[in-house]
Amino acid sequence: MFAVVYLGLAVLYAAAGTEFIICRYDPFVGIFRLDAPFHMVVIGIGFLLLGMFVARPYCRFFCPYGVLLNWMSIFSRKHLSITPAECVQCKLCENSCPFDAINLPTPEKDPDPAKKHFRKFILYFALVPLWVIAGGYVVSKSHKILARADQDVFLSELMISRPDLLDDPDNLDIQTFLSSDKSLDTLVEDAKIVREKFRKGGWYLGGFIGLVFGITLLNHSVIRKRKDYEPHRGDCFSCGRCMDFCPVPRATVNPGANVNPSATVNPSGPLKMQ
Ligand code: SF4
Ligand code: SF4
Repeated sequence: MFAVVYLGLAVLYAAAGTEFIICRYDPFVGIFRLDAPFHMVVIGIGFLLLGMFVARPYCRFFCPYGVLLNWMSIFSRKHLSITPAECVQCKLCENSCPFDAINLPTPEKDPDPAKKHFRKFILYFALVPLWVIAGGYVVSKSHKILARADQDVFLSELMISRPDLLDDPDNLDIQTFLSSDKSLDTLVEDAKIVREKFRKGGWYLGGFIGLVFGITLLNHSVIRKRKDYEPHRGDCFSCGRCMDFCPVPRATVNPGANVNPSATVNPSGPLKMQ
């Protein structure tokens, strides 16, 4: 959900004309542009080092683009399959994915009766609108805090709450404003407009977060019958590592023939899209 919230905030801040937070807080782009502040360089290097222990941490858990790619991938027509032919349930690929993106077959015997699943589904379905409304309400109520990232809002609040700073020559924000033609009244009016944008946008953002949360819960309550080991459509990066573990030969036409379940590597690297 963190990446979903980040994506929603990025759209809200861009729509309100405040700033592009994705550019500002991307841990890598500043390094390539050679203009990253020190703390972002540290965070970027931290993510790179973390990548030695957790596969692609930024892409999987934080990147807002990753959310969009994940969703689009779920609906894409072609998908990778681990085995080039029929899965023989040897389980060799089960732990091969560094991204935990392999879906296991559904157990033959479901411990929970169908009635229980159905009740859960109805409950989560009924909760979706509540999540949307609750999310919208909470974020909209936080609009004053969110709007403080806007320069006009920040400056107007600062000048009103700390009038003594008007004479501070070291405060560049205030001195720059005072040297402009803009009056404090105009600034306060502009800040009001920005806050109103955040109040309205907060409903959209909170509703969006609530909707994604509700659908995610609902999704967990749905039991999909799966016979084979399959990559998750959204989470799979198509790196192909799992394929090397599958002992089913690429040329298998007759499923079950020529299968060596003791093999752990298939160097021919089956590549098949379904
Ligand atoms: S292709 Fe890579 S990311 Fe996808 S399931 Fe296989 S190992 Fe995981
Ligand atoms: S390694 Fe291949 S045959 Fe074995 S469980 Fe995975 S997909 Fe099926």
